[in-house]
Parts: sequence; structure tokens; C-alpha cells
Amino acid sequence: MRDKQRARVYRWGWETKRILAEKKCLPQMSATDIDIFVRRISKDYNITPPKIRLTKRKGAASGGEGNIILPLSWACQKHTIIHEMCHCILFRNKEDGEGHGSRFVRLNIEMLINYTELTSSELLRLARIHRLDIAHINECPQRVKV
Ligand SMILES: [Zn+2]
Repeated sequence: MRDKQRARVYRWGWETKRILAEKKCLPQMSATDIDIFVRRISKDYNITPPKIRLTKRKGAASGGEGNIILPLSWACQKHTIIHEMCHCILFRNKEDGEGHGSRFVRLNIEMLINYTELTSSELLRLARIHRLDIAHINECPQRVKV
């Protein structure tokens, strides 16, 4: 799979996560909190909620078509869950061929604006610094209007 901006997306992610932590807006979530949060996002984007697996294993979190794996030691917070939900939504929309491509970045930015205390200007400023390709919103899955 071509995924040429993955390293840059990760660096951008660490910085945006650090900002949330500094704002004290990155609490550890319980299994119930995570379930509620994942269901809310799934409903907003009209996908079947993925199965969530919390693991004691160290290492990376992952998100794919039908499930998300979150290491208990570090990944049970909004920022990482949003990243993995982003993969799920793109998979469900058959748009994940590019990994952390321009659509991933746009969707991730939109979700961080909608579900966290990060602002659009903070997110876009850092995305420019990390030279991320960002798709137009119309190229991305959208939230279902209520
Ligand atoms: Zn990823």
C-alpha cells in the first residue's frame, strides 16, 4: 500500500495530541466511555460500529474495517480513538487505499474539530508545518445531517 505521508501524519498527530494533553482535555477513558464515543461517531458517519478490543499488549493501536485494537497503557483516549475511527470510516467507504493520505488527513481534522477541543486554526497551522496533503471536504465521508 502506498502510504507516503504516514510518518508526517504521525508527527502531526503527536503534536496535536500534546496540545490536547496540555489543555487537560485528554482524560483516560473507561471501556464504557469508549463504547459510547465509538457509537456516537459511528452514528454520525452512518457506519456499523467497529468491535473494540482493549489489549494489555504493548505497541501500536490499529483500526480496520470491522475492529479497533487499543493498548490499555496509552490508547484509551479520544485522540487515538479518532485516528482509528478515521481508518474505519474510510474502510467502510472503500476509500482506505492510501492509508494516511489526503482524505485521511481531512477527515481526521474534521473529527478532531467536532469531537475535541482542538481548533481548526491549530490543526491547519500544524498540518502546513508538517507539509500534509489535505483533501477537500467534499472528497471525504461526511457526517449524516440530523
Ligand atoms: Zn493510522
